[in-house]
Amino acid sequence: MKKINFFAGPAILAQEVLEEASKSALSFGDMGLSILEISHRSKQFVAVMDEAKALVKELLEVPDEYEILFLSGGASSQFYMTAMNILGEDDTAGYLDTGSWSSKAIKEAKLFGEVNVVASSKDKNYSYIPKGYEIPEDLKYLHLTSNNTIFGTEIFEWPKTKVPYIADMSSDIFSRSIDVSKFSVIYAGAQKNMGPAGVTLVIVRKDVLGKVDRKIPTMLNYQTHIDKDSSFNTPPVYPIYVSMLTLRWIKNNGGIAAMEKRNIEKANLLYDEIDRNSKFVGTAAKEDRSRMNVCFLVKDESHTEAFLADCAEAGCVGVKGHRSVGGFRASIYNAMPKSGVQTLVEVMKNFEDKNA
Ligand SMILES: *Cc1c(COP(=O)(O)O)cnc(C)c1O
Repeated sequence: MKKINFFAGPAILAQEVLEEASKSALSFGDMGLSILEISHRSKQFVAVMDEAKALVKELLEVPDEYEILFLSGGASSQFYMTAMNILGEDDTAGYLDTGSWSSKAIKEAKLFGEVNVVASSKDKNYSYIPKGYEIPEDLKYLHLTSNNTIFGTEIFEWPKTKVPYIADMSSDIFSRSIDVSKFSVIYAGAQKNMGPAGVTLVIVRKDVLGKVDRKIPTMLNYQTHIDKDSSFNTPPVYPIYVSMLTLRWIKNNGGIAAMEKRNIEKANLLYDEIDRNSKFVGTAAKEDRSRMNVCFLVKDESHTEAFLADCAEAGCVGVKGHRSVGGFRASIYNAMPKSGVQTLVEVMKNFEDKNA
């Protein structure tokens, strides 16, 4: 039986994408070779790279002042690459601390310039998004984690400021529409909502580059990858290919607007059940509840294993919560069908009946 994949990442991919990717792993197009064994300089792969870029540009309506890059090193490498490339030694960057990933970004930025943590939700175990804090106007950028994969919170109202944002969108990129023009950099590890592990999408505004005095190693300089079309060295060919297939899938299924609509429906379905069901309770502040990672607890903690066993029996895997929140986390990215969420809701209903 095909399981229903609620893992936070690497995460669910669309079935059609997996089928096409499997075929190409054996024989890619009419090349008579696997995509795993072709040159990144072949015209066939260059076409894949070009299509992936064009799809990102089209789906997110990326303005012409931006470059779209496919890099390796994960979102974690972007924690330092963003600061290294953009934050001068005498500059100050603002960081909103909304969870473990934000904290890691803050730690790396401090290596390169001044960091002002404008607000934090650490006081309540990152269960909400801070609001109403001061944002100095002289910040080089304001770094945000748009969706907190671990704590299940998401930024729906972007802070009101003229300071450009830099955002880690690893777990909600392509899930909803965004105004790219407000950002200096957007980055996202592929393995949540875009593809398999091994590639990181970076969207960078060209005019923010080249302004710091420090020496930047060639591979860590965004300009290198802009000049060489993300192929200065061997790019992660297969992850880029599977990401391209996923972007095609998003386009063929109505684009970002359709994804967003469906994601809202799926999230409402699950949160409504969490609120209705007498056995469960959500962990995130209601107005900040993530549409991608739904975190909840069973009120009687001794029932945790029993509920996970019920989930497993229904084919729902990856529901166990992250250790820093406990309980459960259902990740319901773009590729999760509504029927998958409905199955989980049924398991919750039956659990309540059984334990009445
Ligand atoms: C998973 C995740 C990361 C880390 O990504 P890597 O690609 O493993 O470095 C960073 N930020 C967020 C929001 C994530 O969900």
